[in-house]
Amino acid sequence: MKVLVCGGAGYIGSHTVKELLEQGYDVIVVDSLETGHKKAVDERAPLYVGNLSDESFLEDVFSKHSIDAVIDFAAYSLVGESVTEPAKYFENNIGGTLSLLKKMRKYNVKYIVFSSTAATYGEPEGIPILESDKTVPTNPYGESKLCVEKILHWFDEAYGTKYAVLRYFNAAGAHKSGTIGEDHFPESHLIPIILQTALGKREFIGIFGDDYATEDGTCIRDYIHVTDLAQAHILALEKTMEENKSRTYNLGNGKGFSVKEVVEMARKVTGKEIPAKIEPRRAGDPSVLIASSEKIIKELGWEPKYNTLEEIIASAWQWHQKHPNGYEDK
Ligand code: UDP
Repeated sequence: MKVLVCGGAGYIGSHTVKELLEQGYDVIVVDSLETGHKKAVDERAPLYVGNLSDESFLEDVFSKHSIDAVIDFAAYSLVGESVTEPAKYFENNIGGTLSLLKKMRKYNVKYIVFSSTAATYGEPEGIPILESDKTVPTNPYGESKLCVEKILHWFDEAYGTKYAVLRYFNAAGAHKSGTIGEDHFPESHLIPIILQTALGKREFIGIFGDDYATEDGTCIRDYIHVTDLAQAHILALEKTMEENKSRTYNLGNGKGFSVKEVVEMARKVTGKEIPAKIEPRRAGDPSVLIASSEKIIKELGWEPKYNTLEEIIASAWQWHQKHPNGYEDK
């Protein structure tokens, strides 16, 4: 079976490509390399460099390969940037996937796994968050993902395109081989920034607010290992095809850790001091985000293999130590 992975040179995409190959799938990758890394793509998977909105580029890929299913990670994903540049996010994140869906329809490709986000919920109505909770995004990034979820629903109604939507909480960690990991520019995520501080590449980690209504005053998030996320994509794809039925799942560990707890755990894992400084709150940060992943556990038998924060940080630390400059390193 041949799977097209869009955004396969990105953080979660590249880990999913590796898992797919390990499980015997034929994989082809499409990536614009705007934020992805060529070196992150497993050599066994051919890489086509281009944008999903480029109709003739997609036509070329679909006409060359007999594609059975698509996994779509291709999107901009910086929440802060989405607030200041909403057009960029709506154009790329919605336009790209819409163009992909039209091409899938032309070539009669009926199955897609779509990379969505906890940001579709906005300020949660309850903890843990259920898939049936209200979705009121508080930024254009979450809104762009929610729009695509709605488009998927209507493509299913109209043409029978079946989808699995996966709403991720906080992806973290790196592949066990230490060969691929997280490398964003600019980096904005908590764990890589903490580990860059441990490596001496930053002076301190700024903690964005310690006056939230949580036990230690810092925000609580649900961290999930990128390999566990990758496995969930494969399970979701298989089940969607087997049952010919669309679905939406949360993906998290179901456990929350505060920013201070993450810093403390990173100190333990790395044995480094990791100076921290309290800074003002970051706009738009909800105080607590924890997933209920009961639905995917029950329906797909998905089980996170990295279920402690310590293991997740340790795998990220391995990657950062080996690649202090990310994919720039030889
Ligand atoms: N955070 C922080 N300092 C940083 C980066 C992030 O205190 O330099 C906090 C952020 O406010 C949030 C949590 O860490 O509460 C996780 O942030 P991240 O950007 O990693 O993921 P998000 O939850 O925004 O998807």
